[in-house]
Amino acid sequence: MENKVSFYNTLTKKVELFVPNQDGKVSMYTCGPTVYHFAHIGNLRTYICEDILEKTLRYVGYDVKRVMNITDVGHLSSDADTGEDKMLKGAKREHKTVMEIAKFYTDAFFSDCGKLNIKTPDVVEPATNCIPEFITMISGLLEKGFAYQAGGNIYFDTSKLKEYYVLSNHSEEELLVGVRDDVEEDGNKRNKSDFVLWFTKSKFEDQELKWESPWGVGYPGWHIECSCISLKHLGEHMDIHCGGVDNIFPHHTNEIAQSESYLGHKWCNYWFHVHHLNDKTGKMSKSKGDFLTVSLLESKGYNSLVYRMFCLQSHYRKPLEFSYEVLDNMSAAYEKLVNKVSSLDQAGEVDQEQFAAYREKFEAALCNDLNTSMAITVLYDMLKADINDPTKYALVKSFDEVLSLNLTVGKAVEAVDEELASFVEEKIAERAAAKKAKDFAKADAIREELLAKGIVLKDTREGTVWSKA
Ligand code: AMP
Ligand code: ZN
Repeated sequence: MENKVSFYNTLTKKVELFVPNQDGKVSMYTCGPTVYHFAHIGNLRTYICEDILEKTLRYVGYDVKRVMNITDVGHLSSDADTGEDKMLKGAKREHKTVMEIAKFYTDAFFSDCGKLNIKTPDVVEPATNCIPEFITMISGLLEKGFAYQAGGNIYFDTSKLKEYYVLSNHSEEELLVGVRDDVEEDGNKRNKSDFVLWFTKSKFEDQELKWESPWGVGYPGWHIECSCISLKHLGEHMDIHCGGVDNIFPHHTNEIAQSESYLGHKWCNYWFHVHHLNDKTGKMSKSKGDFLTVSLLESKGYNSLVYRMFCLQSHYRKPLEFSYEVLDNMSAAYEKLVNKVSSLDQAGEVDQEQFAAYREKFEAALCNDLNTSMAITVLYDMLKADINDPTKYALVKSFDEVLSLNLTVGKAVEAVDEELASFVEEKIAERAAAKKAKDFAKADAIREELLAKGIVLKDTREGTVWSKA
């Protein structure tokens, strides 16, 4: 098929035409969340932009297989190998086990993704599922002389590589300052940039998750999981690897080092990175304490998809500053847009020529380094153009396969007030119990009580549903 999607490849440091290894097929890997806390809306910006990349590739006709890991072990407080395990930190904070924390925040992550219309990848694999794969790769690296044992841990030896800093231009000193922060140096390392593949000597006696290995009971480093999980599901030659820009170093740099040393050939051709969402004080991060989540925005009355639109109005390669003022403007624009679409008359024939012409413009914007704001401009221009309503409607539906803003739902969906929702659900359960006990007077009284509050109940085959009057 014709290749026409271009985007910035961090590996070659330029916008490039994307050409997959296999004609018409794309293998794509995404670094998943570290599930020790809720995802903040900065993390979700990265996932929204990656979702746009995947949907653009599908829109132009590729068969995409996308894989994502869930980091439920091995990611320490510093992206280098020092500090406390993030999962353990989460478990201590909430007096739960690491696996309980992992389950809770994995579910919360996919619930947030659902609200933002981020498609779930074809394969989602938690790191703790793949211990045998990690051991195989680490053993291979030891055999080939790319790794060594010191102080009980297994380290990757970066001095064995011809080139280590393949993804970044910065000097070694500059990069290492960024990741070391205030954590002390590991005396076992032969070279400053070496990194841990397998820990047996954790600083923390109470590391909860540990596995048998040829090097003693321990747990994997963070970087090895993405190399092994992508290899397991996507094979030795991968097309695209994605993440936020903070993943470029050390995480992705280390992934390349260990994967290519293990495989003995080039591994991934395209590296796609999304810039950060910042707040007024800088990069949004979970360790900062108060961070913004999708639920927080919802509780303030925002529709989650307004945040998606906020992200699409900026370019993925530019840092984006969050502000409620801009979100408010976006909310108004979103409501207007959805209402405009709902006013279109769907009956009638689609003008195929106009359809093809606008679809091409929309595609061209996305194919040009994922210019999502230009794609939205094409949508607005199309809605203003002198073409018939059914064609406009068909185009909106088509564009929304990528934009995923629920533009054809009818009217702007109001954010659900969670307190109200749980109150209504309780009343619905009470009414169902009354009906079962044949207390129809009580059941009717509950219906009336809700109606007085502006809530309309409707009994369907699937159960009782409610809406605002
Ligand atoms: P984590 O859960 O910390 O492993 O991060 C999940 C994803 O979010 C990774 O791809 C990070 O690069 C990305 N990320 C972290 N902070 C931000 C931010 N402030 N803005 C955008 N993406 C981010
Ligand atoms: Zn990763």
